[in-house]
Amino acid sequence: MESVRLDVSGAYFGRLSKGSDLVEEVMAMTVKNGVTSGFFTAIGAVEGAVIGFYRQDAREYVKSVFDGPLELSSCAGNVMLKDGKLFVHAHACLSRRDGSTVGGHLVSAKVFAGEIFIFSFDNRMNRSFDEDTGLYLVDVPR
Ligand code: ZN
Repeated sequence: MESVRLDVSGAYFGRLSKGSDLVEEVMAMTVKNGVTSGFFTAIGAVEGAVIGFYRQDAREYVKSVFDGPLELSSCAGNVMLKDGKLFVHAHACLSRRDGSTVGGHLVSAKVFAGEIFIFSFDNRMNRSFDEDTGLYLVDVPR
């Protein structure tokens, strides 16, 4: 494993808009604040979501649609450059009224309400294609 120290250059808070798409909201917030490398965490509630599961054998995502209401019990991810463009990578854990949960790679989610914190880094971070996994993984900055 490689690791590197990151210097947090800013922290931003946002209230997610009802009816918006969570991933698009993260992208808009990063663009508005000039964040090109960052980490975020969010909680709240969604009206529904599309979750991806990466089939390691087939090297492809399969998507599942989950209708709400669902609690956004946890959502974490990062924003970095992929092929020179900003890319949001998010995972979420969503819970139903009975406490059961679904989760995985967050493709989209219709926000009911939510709170998000984004922490930006001075370090420029990029993703590049990894032959071993078939995924665009984060390059450890040097
Ligand atoms: Zn993922």
